[in-house]
Amino acid sequence: MSNASPEQLPYGRQSIDEDDIQAVVEVLRSDWLTTGPAVERFEAELGGWAGAPTVVVTSGTAALHTAYAAAGIGKGSQVVTSPMTFVATAATASLLGADIVFADVEADTANLDVGAVEAVVSKRTAAITGIDYAGHPVEADALRELAHAHDALFVEDAAHSVGSTWRGRPVGSLADLTTFSFYPTKNFTTAEGGAVASPNPLLIERARQFRNHGLVRDQSLQRTPDEGGWHQEVHELGLNYRLPDVLCALGVAQLRKLDRFKQRRKQIVAAYNSAFASIPEVATPPCREGADPMWHLYPLRVLDGRRRQLYDASRAEGILVQVHYVPVHWHPAYADLGYRRGMCPHAEEFYTQQLSLPLFPGMSDDDVDRVIAAVRDFFQTS
Ligand SMILES: *Cc1c(COP(=O)(O)O)cnc(C)c1O
Repeated sequence: MSNASPEQLPYGRQSIDEDDIQAVVEVLRSDWLTTGPAVERFEAELGGWAGAPTVVVTSGTAALHTAYAAAGIGKGSQVVTSPMTFVATAATASLLGADIVFADVEADTANLDVGAVEAVVSKRTAAITGIDYAGHPVEADALRELAHAHDALFVEDAAHSVGSTWRGRPVGSLADLTTFSFYPTKNFTTAEGGAVASPNPLLIERARQFRNHGLVRDQSLQRTPDEGGWHQEVHELGLNYRLPDVLCALGVAQLRKLDRFKQRRKQIVAAYNSAFASIPEVATPPCREGADPMWHLYPLRVLDGRRRQLYDASRAEGILVQVHYVPVHWHPAYADLGYRRGMCPHAEEFYTQQLSLPLFPGMSDDDVDRVIAAVRDFFQTS
C-alpha cells in the first residue's frame, strides 16, 4: 500500500450516473439510433438553458464550423477573435477562408478585451468571436453592439460556459450565434457533441441546414418540387454533423443535473479561492459584477515564474493539472502565416502563468483538500 502510486485526479472529468446509462440503453433498444425523437427533446431542453433555439451537432468544433457557415463566413471574411482559446475557435473560420485578426484579452479574466477589438474592427469584419474563458461570460453587450455597428455578427464560443448567465440572461441568448461543446471534460457531456444556439430564426435555420448537407425537403422551397416523393435538393452545401439519438438521450439525462453540477463547481471554486487568497505567489480567477459563471476551469495564475515547476510537482503527485491555452497565434499553422509572438501581450503573459487545477462535480471534499494542500506545500516548502 505504502508504495502504491497516488490516485490520479484529472483537471476535469465526466459525471455519469445510472440514469445516464439507462437513458442510452433505452435508445439502443428503440427504432432510432440517430435523427429520431431524442434529438428534438435534447434541443428543446437545451434551448431552455440557452434561452434560444438550438441545433445540436457532433462536437464543439462542428458547432463553430456550423455557426460560421450560417453567418456566411467565407473567403476574405475577417473574423476578430481571442488568442486565449482552443485552436478550433479560429481554425474553423480559417478553414472557411476567413482571415483571422487576433485581439488581446483582459489581463485578469483572459476574455476578449472590448478596447482591443475596437482598435482592429473594420468594414471587412464579418464576425467578432468572444470566448467565455473558464466559464466566465465575455462583455457580451459591448461586443454585440460593436459587431452590429460594423454590420458584423457577434459569435460566442461558449464551450466552457453552458449554464452561465450574464446580467441575468443565459449564455446562448446573448450573441447572434453561440456554440457549446459537450466533450467529457466540459460542463456536461454527450461523449462527443456540441450545439449552436441563436435567437435569430434565419441563422438557426441556416445552421440546421448546414448540419444535414443543406438538404431541402420542404416542397414549397424546392426548385423542381414535382419530381416525386423521393425528391430533395441541395441549394447550399453542408456536411453531416448530426448528433445521434443515443448521445442526445445522454444529453437530456445530463441536463437534468446541470444545476447541481453548477452548484458543486461553485463550491469548489469558492474553497480554492479562499485557500489561495493568502498565497502571494498566485492569483485566483476574478468574477465581474453581472457574471454568474458555471465555472468550467479553475485557472490559477502562478506569478513567481514557477508555473512549470508547479505543473511538474502536481503531476508527479497524481494531480493532473493542465495548461489552457497555448495562444492560438503561437501555433506553427498561424505563426507560418506571419502572426508574431508579442502581438497579444496580455494573452501571452497569461499563458506563461496559467494552470488549471482539478475541477469537476464528482470531486470529493477530500479531493479538494488534497489539491489545496499540494499547492500550499509547494509555495511554503520550495
Ligand atoms: C472544447 C473546446 C472547443 C471544441 O469543442 P470539441 O467538442 O472538443 O470539438 C472549442 N472551443 C473551446 C474554447 C473549447 O474549450
